[in-house]
Amino acid sequence: MNTNIFNQKQSIMKIHNFSAGPAILPQVVLDEAAQAVENFENLGLSILEVSHRSKEIVSVMDEAQKLVKELLHLGDDYAVLFLTGGASTQFFMTAMNLLNEGETACYVDTGVWSTKAIKEVSHFGTVNVLSSSEDSNYNYIPKDWSVPTDTKYVHITSNNTIYGTQYQTFPKVDNAILVADMSSDIFSHTFDATQFGLIYAGAQKNLGPAGTTLVIVKKDILGQVNRAIPTMLDYRTHIKKDSSFNTPPVYPIYVCLLTLRWLQGQGGIKAVEAINKKKADLLYSEIDRNPFFKGVAAIEDRSSMNVTFVANNSAHEAAFLEYCAANGISGVKGHRSVGGFRASIYNAMPIESVEYLVGLMKNFKPE
Ligand SMILES: *Cc1c(COP(=O)(O)O)cnc(C)c1O
Repeated sequence: MNTNIFNQKQSIMKIHNFSAGPAILPQVVLDEAAQAVENFENLGLSILEVSHRSKEIVSVMDEAQKLVKELLHLGDDYAVLFLTGGASTQFFMTAMNLLNEGETACYVDTGVWSTKAIKEVSHFGTVNVLSSSEDSNYNYIPKDWSVPTDTKYVHITSNNTIYGTQYQTFPKVDNAILVADMSSDIFSHTFDATQFGLIYAGAQKNLGPAGTTLVIVKKDILGQVNRAIPTMLDYRTHIKKDSSFNTPPVYPIYVCLLTLRWLQGQGGIKAVEAINKKKADLLYSEIDRNPFFKGVAAIEDRSSMNVTFVANNSAHEAAFLEYCAANGISGVKGHRSVGGFRASIYNAMPIESVEYLVGLMKNFKPE
């Protein structure tokens, strides 16, 4: 009898997960998350069957909020929320909570996710698209714009998951409120979070599993619109009730907490940023060196999270994908609107996996 079947964990081939999202999580996070499903904090209960009003879960919620503030160096003028509905719900919730009818919000269009956010604004006020890189399939971040004086807020997408572009510095917006969708690069690099009025991020890229959305909001920007806001869509409801007005997605939030603890254990964002830079440099230098590949994004706007590239000869594309699949690489097929390849190298991606992918690129010899 083959005893190996009883030890699946060790017999399964190691898969290097380059998926854009839901995406890789640190192995220790997966182990602890699995343990909590069996027996949460030695209660003899699964975390899946514990009340969200229990002191153990209240403490999960508190610690998760506290860690977000600590990692981003934010004070009590900011609230940290774990909501549902994905980043997609934030596309309209931001406008609904911040913009009066007759007021203008400015957006920078850097791709699919920006476009979806822009589409929602007209339900609540006026939208002004300051600039767009649509003319070149969003392969760069437009910088040729300024903010009109009557602007309520400016919305940017800090990292464009599909195209592999990322703001390297954040724009100055004078008296307007700066709002960012940071779904795919939150906690990947240091930045001054106090320049933002509101940041949101779906958890499933760089923070945790699908099912919760992190929202960080400066409290004093709220309460300035005169429309009635349904209770569940009013940020103030969730601030008042510590994200537990209704039953929160306890388990996804718990896994986010485990990732936040892991992040702090790594030495915080600064330490992880240094490794992220090494990983991105490794991969981009191979793309630039290797005659079979070329990068998609403008060099100065290249993302350190989602690395997009194509085969110089498109006939080699399928062969490289097959070569990757045969060698334990998952998730490198590019998004259909860009084609080619996309290697997502989020915080949890070990540098060894990036080295492994680079090794395959070096060995790739198409017919
Ligand atoms: C994935 C993604 C979204 C969509 O997130 P959902 O949680 O699925 O709504 C929005 N913005 C960016 C930048 C993303 O990468």
